[in-house]
Amino acid sequence: MVADSPGVGRNLQDHLFAFVVYERTDDEPPAPTSNIGEGAGYTYVDDDEPAPDLQFHFCPTYYMNHGFDNPEGLGFSIGSTQLRPESRGGVEVASADPTDDPVVDPRYLSADSDLEVLREGIKRAREIARSEAFDSVRGEEVWPGEDVETDAEIEEHVRETAHTVYHPVGTCRMGDDESAVVDDRLRVHGVEGLRIADTSVMPKIPSGNTNAPAIAVGERAASMIGD
Ligand SMILES: Cc1cc2nc3c(=O)[nH]c(=O)nc-3n(C[C@H](O)[C@H](O)[C@H](O)COP(=O)(O)OP(=O)(O)OC[C@H]3O[C@@H](n4cnc5c(N)ncnc54)[C@H](O)[C@@H]3O)c2cc1C
Repeated sequence: MVADSPGVGRNLQDHLFAFVVYERTDDEPPAPTSNIGEGAGYTYVDDDEPAPDLQFHFCPTYYMNHGFDNPEGLGFSIGSTQLRPESRGGVEVASADPTDDPVVDPRYLSADSDLEVLREGIKRAREIARSEAFDSVRGEEVWPGEDVETDAEIEEHVRETAHTVYHPVGTCRMGDDESAVVDDRLRVHGVEGLRIADTSVMPKIPSGNTNAPAIAVGERAASMIGD
C-alpha cells in the first residue's frame, strides 16, 4: 500500500437521458453529414436552480437503445437530460488482479429527484413534439406510446429506457478533506509526483456536456506542470 485513499472510485456521477420517439410522415432522410444530435435546448424544471437543470437533444432519426434499435422507416427523437443529478455511484476493483474488469455501479436514479426531472422532461419533450411545428412530419408516437399517460407510467418508461449520455465524472474528487483524492493543483494526496488530469477530478458534474470541461482540466494541468 502506497496511499490509503478511500475516496478513489467514489462519487461517480453521470448524465442520463430519456427519449420520446415518433415516426415521421415525410420521406426526407437526414443529411449524410448529420451528427444526429442536431439541436439542443436548455430549460428549468426547478426555477430556483442557478442554471438550467434540463437539456433537450433533438435527433432527426430514431434514437433508441443508444441508437442500436432502428425500426423501419424514418423517425425523430427528443431526449431529455437531467443536468444536475443527485445520484452517486462508484467504481471498484473486482480483485487484486489488475487485469480483471472493474465493477462499475452508476446507481442511476437512486435519487428520487433525478427521476422527477426526467419524468418532467418527457412531458415537455412530448409537448414540443406534439406542437403545431411538427404537424407536417409527426407520425405515431413510438416511445413512450400514446397509452403511457400517468406519472407512474412515464417513470416506468424512464426506468426502462433511459441511458447514459457518456459523461462519467467525479471518482477522484478534488478537495482538501479526507475523502478527496487530488488537491487543487491536481496532485494526488499522499503520493509524490502524481497528478490526475481528467473528468474524474470534478467534484460535481458540470450542468452541460463534459468534453470542453475535460479539455480545460487538461490544459490547466499542462500549465501547472510547466510552472
Ligand atoms: C460515445 C460518446 C459520445 C460523447 N459525446 C460527447 C459530446 O457530444 N459532447 C461532449 O461534450 N462530450 C461527449 N462525450 C464525453 C466526452 O468524450 C468525455 O467527457 C471526455 O472525453 C472525458 O475526457 P477524459 O480525459 O476524462 O477521459 P477520456 O477521453 O476517456 O480519456 C482517457 C484516456 O486514458 C487512456 N487510458 C485509459 N486507461 C489507461 C491506462 N491504464 N494507461 C494509460 N492510458 C489509459 C484512454 O486510452 C484515453 O485516451 C461523449 C463520450 C462518449 C463515450
